[in-house]
Amino acid sequence: MPDYETLRANLERRGFDVTYFETAAQAADYLDRKLDGKTVGHGGALTLTEMGLPERLSSHAAVFSHWSGGTFQQAAAAPIYLTSVNALAETGELVNIDGTGNRVASTLFGHEEVYFIVGANKIAPDYDSALWRARNIASPKNAQRLHKKTPCAARGERCYDCSSPERICRALVVLWEKPGGIGRAEVVLVNEALGF
Ligand code: SF4
Repeated sequence: MPDYETLRANLERRGFDVTYFETAAQAADYLDRKLDGKTVGHGGALTLTEMGLPERLSSHAAVFSHWSGGTFQQAAAAPIYLTSVNALAETGELVNIDGTGNRVASTLFGHEEVYFIVGANKIAPDYDSALWRARNIASPKNAQRLHKKTPCAARGERCYDCSSPERICRALVVLWEKPGGIGRAEVVLVNEALGF
């Protein structure tokens, strides 16, 4: 089990607000209440889908995503953005790899609030192991999910640092601290496995 107290202290020291929930259902209830009536964007994250959050929010908030017929631009223009990470180090670094760039761009600039929802499976002991996880576990699984013609999707065991035209790993963003370009950032920790 991750050392949540150490993780919380390290994230707060880096400028992030932190909330913790034992279950995904509790975290979904919290966000569903908190985002009532708000305008929210997201970039498509398995974590959100597994929580049923976009569907719940859609009944009482404005939700924009290319996963539900919207555009990247609409999600980017929303004051609030929901996402996850590919890995989170107990030392406090947030690691994300992206292909299009919309998701990582929204973690860096332009939103009043960004929520990072992170399952226990995403937490690694330190930065090096978080980076390794993002590259060798999260990205190959996402390539498989998206049916990409990449060596990792075919073999499924690790990253091959491929030069495939369908490579999904085109940008790596590490948040050392909350970026100045977003108003507030909250890491929502969930002590269950969520997403890849
Ligand atoms: S760089 Fe290529 S092989 Fe490595 S995870 Fe990304 S798509 Fe897969």
